[in-house]
Order: sequence, then structure tokens, then C-alpha cells
Amino acid sequence: MIRRCPEHGFFRGEVCPCGEPGQILLDDERTEKLGRLVAGALRHFPDDLGLAIDSRGWVDLDSLTKAIRTRYHWADKDLLIALVQSDPKKRYEIEERYIRARYGHSVDVDLDYPMNTVPALYYGASEEEAGRILEVGLKSASQRYVHLSTTSEKAWFVGTFRTKIPIIIEVDAQAAQNDGITMMTVSEEIVISENIPPIYLNLVSAEG
Ligand SMILES: [Zn+2]
Repeated sequence: MIRRCPEHGFFRGEVCPCGEPGQILLDDERTEKLGRLVAGALRHFPDDLGLAIDSRGWVDLDSLTKAIRTRYHWADKDLLIALVQSDPKKRYEIEERYIRARYGHSVDVDLDYPMNTVPALYYGASEEEAGRILEVGLKSASQRYVHLSTTSEKAWFVGTFRTKIPIIIEVDAQAAQNDGITMMTVSEEIVISENIPPIYLNLVSAEG
């Protein structure tokens, strides 16, 4: 659910980190519905909603609000802003009249984040995945970019959403970038990359 703390603004869950329960804006079910539709609209099927998306992934916020209201009459622009600002994964950003997903696109976009400067990046794979990745490289079947983590701990954590005990693959980001593979910093923890051939990949030994 989304609530509003008078002191700290929008947040997810029962209480703001300051302890204030605040005021409820949207229950769990509607938060999930709205989140799924916004993700779909900005990452996967803007066309289906009649939305124009530019090459950097930006969509007009008023147009998105209108498109969403045709499905969910209870939604409005303020709720969209609340959804974005309270998102624990910082999946979206709003700039003036425009909104975009920061990552996770399956539609063809060319994102324009700063170039990655972290020399080694990490990916947490399942056991079956790991063997294949080391053979054919790291690529996403469904998304425009591959997501990497800036630390092996973070990659492990992300990997646990897919498998019980992730296997950590280290990416020689510096070499890959020197060879022309684009890698961009989305946040302190997330870097997105074009497909990465196996020569830049190494298994990190478990529990070193
Ligand atoms: Zn608060």
C-alpha cells in the first residue's frame, strides 16, 4: 500500500521509517494493479495504450494518466507521482511533464545514463543458467539490457529472487567497455549493459 507521512512524503507499507503511520492513499491490491499497469505501459506495451514513447523511454505524464484512467477510474496523476516516489526499487523517474522506467524495458529504447565506471560487475545466476551464460554470454531474452550489480553481495541478493543459492558471475566491465560494449549506471547498485560475450565472464568461487 501507499501512505503519506506529513513529514517525509509517500512511502510503502504500514509506517514511515520515522514511525508515523500517516494517511493511506492506496490499498495493497490497487497499488499492485497500478504498479503492474505502469510497468507495462513504460517498459513493454506503450503502443497498446496508445502512448508515444521516445527513444530515451520518456512518455508524457498526462497521456499516461489518461490511458491509465480508462482502465482504473480511481487512478489520477497524484497517485502516479506517489507510486513513483514511494517505489522501493526506484523503477521510474519523472522529469517535468515526462515519466519513464529507469530500466527493465523490452521495447527498443536507447537509454542515456552515465557510462559505468565500476571495473568489475556481478550477476547472480541459477546453476543451470550459469553454465549456459559462461558458454554463450550474458544476454536477456526479454529485455533490451542486462542488469548487473555493483557488488557480489548485491548480485547474490538479486539472484535469490530466481534461485535458492545463486552462483555469482563476475563481469570484466572495464575490458568489455574498452571493447565497445555499452554499460550505464542506473543507480549506485544497478548497471545495465548490452549483451556480454563469454570472454568477459568468470565464475566467482562460492563462499570464498
Ligand atoms: Zn515520516
